[in-house]
Amino acid sequence: MKIPESIPCASHVYTTRFVKNLIRDVGNRGQITWHTQLIEFEDTLEGSILNVSVWHEITHQIDRHYNNDSLDEDTVNRMAEGFAQVFGDMGITFER
Ligand SMILES: [Zn+2]
Repeated sequence: MKIPESIPCASHVYTTRFVKNLIRDVGNRGQITWHTQLIEFEDTLEGSILNVSVWHEITHQIDRHYNNDSLDEDTVNRMAEGFAQVFGDMGITFER
């Protein structure tokens, strides 16, 4: 599915956007910022890396609003890979 322009979670709606040179400038393929309600992705991402990066930021979003920000980064990575696999096997993947 096309990456939504906004992703709601709890009572919050986050806007998604692609950013040039995010990896070079920040070192992240994606990032979520609570106070601006932005989810940003490196502009050059595609395929499975883009898909799992979207799941990664959604996992952070859910963790933030429903789990008191309790997951460490490695756990977020594992959860994102799991969501990508389970939903991918049902034919649901994110793309631009
Ligand atoms: Zn992360």
